[in-house]
Amino acid sequence: MDSGKVYLVGAGPGEPGLMTRRSLELIAEADAILYDRLIPANALEGARQDCDLRYVGKEPGNPAMSQEEIGALLVELGQAGKRVVRLKGGDPFVFGRGGEEAEALRAAGVAFEVVPGVTAGVAAPAYAGIPVTHRDAASAVAFVTGHEDPAKAESALDTEGLARFPGTLVFYMGVKNLPLIADGLIAAGRDPAEPAAVVRRGTLPDQQTVTGTLADIAERVAGAGLKAPAITVVGPAAALREQLAWLEERPLHGRRVAVTRARAQASGLAARLRTLGAEVVETPAIRIEPRPIEDEIVDAITRYSLVCLTSPNGVALLFDALARNGLDARALAGATLAAIGPGTARELERRGVRADVVPPRSIAESLVEALADVPVEGRRVLIARAAEARDVLPDALRERGAAVDVVALYETVVEPLTEEQRAALGGVDYVTFTSASTARNLLKSLGDERTALDGARVVSIGPVTTAAARELGLRVDVEAERHDIDGLVEALVRDAT
Ligand code: SAH
Repeated sequence: MDSGKVYLVGAGPGEPGLMTRRSLELIAEADAILYDRLIPANALEGARQDCDLRYVGKEPGNPAMSQEEIGALLVELGQAGKRVVRLKGGDPFVFGRGGEEAEALRAAGVAFEVVPGVTAGVAAPAYAGIPVTHRDAASAVAFVTGHEDPAKAESALDTEGLARFPGTLVFYMGVKNLPLIADGLIAAGRDPAEPAAVVRRGTLPDQQTVTGTLADIAERVAGAGLKAPAITVVGPAAALREQLAWLEERPLHGRRVAVTRARAQASGLAARLRTLGAEVVETPAIRIEPRPIEDEIVDAITRYSLVCLTSPNGVALLFDALARNGLDARALAGATLAAIGPGTARELERRGVRADVVPPRSIAESLVEALADVPVEGRRVLIARAAEARDVLPDALRERGAAVDVVALYETVVEPLTEEQRAALGGVDYVTFTSASTARNLLKSLGDERTALDGARVVSIGPVTTAAARELGLRVDVEAERHDIDGLVEALVRDAT
């Protein structure tokens, strides 16, 4: 059989956005992926359904596969003709034993490629505001293993050489040995007053940084309880953090925010919050269940003179129904189109359709007002929406003499929380509700454990959601002025800063 190929791929330091484009392509194509512990949380999301995923890292209580075993497995899979991704944290050739794996593959005649990754020794300092080189502060940088006890005779580390090194020292795997490393460097002549910093879980939402001098950094790190994985930086460049720290400047830095939207819709809000520095806890409270739409409605679609859409989901499902019947946006050409808010209007725009009416506030009452000038008397109106919506809009239009058809395109059903999600909710600073049903269903799932939310500030997208939450006995702390995702994020940021 044709020999396959093994890709030694770096997955970056932890932040998913720091994975390379090439790594994502290869993950998506791989027949098999062998991965370690320190890879980004969702690194494997893009893998094929039938991809052979194997964890080969250390696990508490479970010895890691030996390097020889991993090498042998890579060779075996490669020789079986597989496309194999060997996924490692950071860069595969920087303290990643990628070199040894490449040697094993070369010896066995299995083809391989190396895909570099963003290494923790550069990324963690960068996220702490420390440039590892700087024209004025450091014209060289050394990547050093901190795994070895420098005092040991058999240590491969040349402590004297490192003490003399004219630039920044970056230690990997060095937390446990930090006292030995620092003492060793000082004993070998490095200036005890030299700035030093330790960055734990760099680029991740819970990144921590401790700074000090070579003389006191070990004590400070112990005092802060900092453990692996962390990078230690020694050199004048470490002091630049004082001016250049940027991560902590983000408005939601250090805040944990729960997003309760349906999983399919959560990503936009979650990404916005992350960009602002928040640690996002995804606890989807609802799931969207499409409902079949009656043929009569689709058949008669061209006869409506007004079509109202009250959610982005509604737009998607209405267009799906049209498509199933061989129709497209042109079926709505004769109708005035009303969207409840900018999110819904955007969903229409993505399908090449501009909404004629978008009310200033994204609630039914505001839409009723905005429709005041649209003639409806004696005309057919379609309201496409969720099953459990309020009747404000149909009632108002019927009162004005319209023949209103309401079509329930979907219902929102409760999405049970996992144990992990329940536990995570207990530690959040904010919980966000983007609809009445997210509030209702989250409380339904929590049941007796609703006290988990006691420590969190509750953020609501608008008055209808607020009313629903209050009815359930929840205290609402923040209500968005604009009743869309942007408005909600704005309100949350204002509250947090
Ligand atoms: N190949 C990896 C390094 C693997 S060695 C790379 O290029 O980054 C493992 C060590 O890397 C850890 O002990 C720690 O020192 C460092 N490390 C990995 N991820 C880290 C992170 N997110 N923050 C700080 N240090 C990290």
